[in-house]
Amino acid sequence: MQQHDTHTLRQDDSRHHLHPFTDTKALGSGSRIITGADGIYIHDSEGNRILDGMAGLWCVNLGYGRRELVEAAAAQMTELPYYNNFFKTAHPPAIKLAKKLTELAPGHINHVFFTGSGSESNDTVVRMVRRYWQLKGQPQKTVIIGRRNGYHGSTLAGASLGGMAPMHEQGGPMLPDVAHIAQPYWFGEGREMSPQEFGLLAAQSLEQKIKELGVERVAAFIAEPVQGAGGVIIPPDSYWPEIQRICDHYGILLVADEVICGFGRLGQWFGSQHFNIKPDLMPIAKGLSSGYLPIGGVLVGDRVAEVLIEQGGEFYHGFTYSGHPACAAVALRNLELMEEEGILERVRELTGPYFAKQWATLADHPLVGEVRSLGLLGALELVADKTTLARFEPGIGAQCRDNCFATGIVMRSVGETMVVSPPLVITEAQIDELVRLARQSLDLTA
Ligand code: PLP
Repeated sequence: MQQHDTHTLRQDDSRHHLHPFTDTKALGSGSRIITGADGIYIHDSEGNRILDGMAGLWCVNLGYGRRELVEAAAAQMTELPYYNNFFKTAHPPAIKLAKKLTELAPGHINHVFFTGSGSESNDTVVRMVRRYWQLKGQPQKTVIIGRRNGYHGSTLAGASLGGMAPMHEQGGPMLPDVAHIAQPYWFGEGREMSPQEFGLLAAQSLEQKIKELGVERVAAFIAEPVQGAGGVIIPPDSYWPEIQRICDHYGILLVADEVICGFGRLGQWFGSQHFNIKPDLMPIAKGLSSGYLPIGGVLVGDRVAEVLIEQGGEFYHGFTYSGHPACAAVALRNLELMEEEGILERVRELTGPYFAKQWATLADHPLVGEVRSLGLLGALELVADKTTLARFEPGIGAQCRDNCFATGIVMRSVGETMVVSPPLVITEAQIDELVRLARQSLDLTA
């Protein structure tokens, strides 16, 4: 194992490294330096082993240290480390991955466009959606509707589609022709009515927005099946059927951002299958390669693909690393391993229900106002008063997140909501450990 000089690394890190989503000035005594990992645990340079309750950034679904994925990358890099798929070339890993993905996707999806990340996938969505309506003879249909507090990435298009207020405030003018509607966040915004009534109301804000903008201008609606980065917001059952009805009724495209929910997180290949919806486009990334190499894509339904292919001519869009051979080879092996190891069935029938049961035991903690989970996604709402459900002043979430690290677990804070998204290979005993460590972190915070 490599030896690391933590002190020098920390100094160099704070002097030269601008971290994503970080207040560099507030790094204080410096970053925790992560040097290795195995299974569902990460190791830091000071010898601590920490349970990774976030699977990296919602992506290391098969866990760390998978030789099979390393070998797939090495074999492909030896044979063909790079070539592109531009113009009239292609290479075997991209072709095989495209076939595999479209076999796994619902029947109406038979094409994929590769990208390098979730953000690039959503940039691609914007370009594809607008091109589709141009080709349909309705070029004025340019507006894409997203949701407040949705997350679709950090590029200009991703940040614009997303509804994260600080990103909009810091980024200067966002993309024009993007609108946002309510999020189906019952605990935060809808407790004066039942979850089902609120879910319906939140969905109907899409219809209102379409009417307000004029259907002749609206191109698509984009949403995550379960809002992840916004705080694991699980919509009430009434929500998605109503969204699907509205999209069908007005003929607008439905885009399900599967970057987190795809590849087993909810016990199905895609989160939209869990909710029984039929998206026209599905941006993907993260779990596609279990995070071992960067790769994303957009799964394209027949309604859009047929128009783009039959009438579109050349699509002036693509990335140097669209379908990168090593990334594609790793993604393909990752999907094969998921099948061989029955990961979906495991999450659906064993670890998902077990996690739901154990995670729910945290409801009795004095800091917890609501516990929710679906598949292997979980959230805890921190409250100052369990009876009135009054919220804390901002800051308690970040404090709890730091206490998690001290306790030996990674959980993420989203405002006053704590979220987890562990690797899908987590065992029942490790779920017990996760819940025990989460409780200890809450105790430290109380
Ligand atoms: N879409 C969703 C739903 C995400 O959660 C994320 C990242 O967290 C993205 C898109 C952006 O992906 P990336 O960070 O790979 O650009």
